[in-house]
Amino acid sequence: MDYETLDPEDWANIQQLAHALVDRAVDYTSKVRDRPVWRDMPGDIRDRFLTAAPQTATPLEDILRDVDETVMAYPMGNIHPRFWAWYMGTSNFTGAMADFMAAIQGSNLGGGNHAAALMDHQVVQWLREMVGMPEGSSGTLVSGGSVANLIGLTIARNTKAGIDVREEGLMALPKPLRFYGSDQMHGCHRQAIETLGLGNRALRRIRTGSDLAMDLDALKAAVADDRAKGFVPACVIATAGTVNTGAFDNLAAIADFCHDQDIWFHVDGCIGALVAIAPENRWRVEGIDRADSVALDPHKWLHAPFEVGCALIRSRSAHLATFSATSEYLEVTKRGVAAAQWLHDFGIQTSRGFRALKVWMSLREHGVRKFGRMIDQDIAKGAYLSGLVEQADNLHLMFPTNINIVCFRCDPGGLDEAALKSLNIEIMLRLQENGIAVLSDTTVNGQHCLRAAINNHRTRNDDLELLVREVQNLAKAVLGEAGNN
Ligand SMILES: *Cc1c(COP(=O)(O)O)cnc(C)c1O
Repeated sequence: MDYETLDPEDWANIQQLAHALVDRAVDYTSKVRDRPVWRDMPGDIRDRFLTAAPQTATPLEDILRDVDETVMAYPMGNIHPRFWAWYMGTSNFTGAMADFMAAIQGSNLGGGNHAAALMDHQVVQWLREMVGMPEGSSGTLVSGGSVANLIGLTIARNTKAGIDVREEGLMALPKPLRFYGSDQMHGCHRQAIETLGLGNRALRRIRTGSDLAMDLDALKAAVADDRAKGFVPACVIATAGTVNTGAFDNLAAIADFCHDQDIWFHVDGCIGALVAIAPENRWRVEGIDRADSVALDPHKWLHAPFEVGCALIRSRSAHLATFSATSEYLEVTKRGVAAAQWLHDFGIQTSRGFRALKVWMSLREHGVRKFGRMIDQDIAKGAYLSGLVEQADNLHLMFPTNINIVCFRCDPGGLDEAALKSLNIEIMLRLQENGIAVLSDTTVNGQHCLRAAINNHRTRNDDLELLVREVQNLAKAVLGEAGNN
């Protein structure tokens, strides 16, 4: 009887193909600067993603060639030195090697008694230490910041509900819960609150001051108002580094307030929690160590390949009380491969990938201190670009730069808001289409602007100089065309 297996018939051939793949990977990464940041796909390439499921075999050589031609040639571009859209990370080669080895080992991080599970725990504890939360805190590696926030907010809900939400459900709540975040908080919180069954209205948007950080008086007033109306203020979501402008809420003051009011203190630190390791900027997160829960994102400022986020929870017992649900078929044994607390007791996934290795390997390779210095370095790049914008003709900084997020626009004078918006969008799109740089846009204080988030260990000052020159050239071109119409 011939058994079918997925193993190759000829390991020597696979070895050769894999060696060639590694060579291409090194080439791809080391020469990233020579390629356009992004380019749109021609129709025939797009069509190749519309074929039906393959029922029969294709030689691996052909598949690898297809991957080169149709996939590797058309990336999003976020590993490029001139990608500054939204707020991402730039990945790193060691992390990519780690992902390969993690897949080769293939362990399931639902838990168990094996090295990858120990490392998962170790990386969570390293991140806890970096943020400064106390020993004994627990945590879990998740897909990213959105899920890390969901984990924190779920524990906040269950802890502050006053009933056993897991058994009785939200229907049994004696009084409705309220959550608070600034009007600059990330969109994932709305999704989390809705997913938690509390409804969007349970999430109050607190006014921000001129620095776009949460207005503490407005928070206090909202909480008092809710108490008077019979709501239960359950959780304040403070943001360490907002997506729009990189604003930091006053964590120490919010920690004091939450402590006085018996409210869960959650920090969305997807952008800024790790500023705690940056010598020149750690003052921005003073008080983060007092949080009940923190969401952070190693795939942003630690540049781990996607995906890896982390939720840190001060109270391990509250963490387990919300998620642990070990079934009889998963009972922990005294010996053997099941002789360890299941990791799925700390979140909503059962099977989990081995996310820890890519963080562990790069942290060991470079050391925490270097990552801290590179966070300071990105923030210095933000200041450098802001200076260039302020000196350039027709460019205006739209908000004083806090960290590495620079909001600016081209304003040649004489255009109304709508015309300025379309000019700047056209500049943004041409930068992308020409493969020069990728920026995104946003609205700050009611005004549209371009936004460069320099979360990029490959960016150099000359890349930022090039950006400013190209924005000005494109502005001239766009305005010239408009003049000729
Ligand atoms: C990126 C981000 C998130 C979401 O994190 P993902 O890793 O993209 O899921 C949440 N909050 C803030 C402030 C962010 O910048």
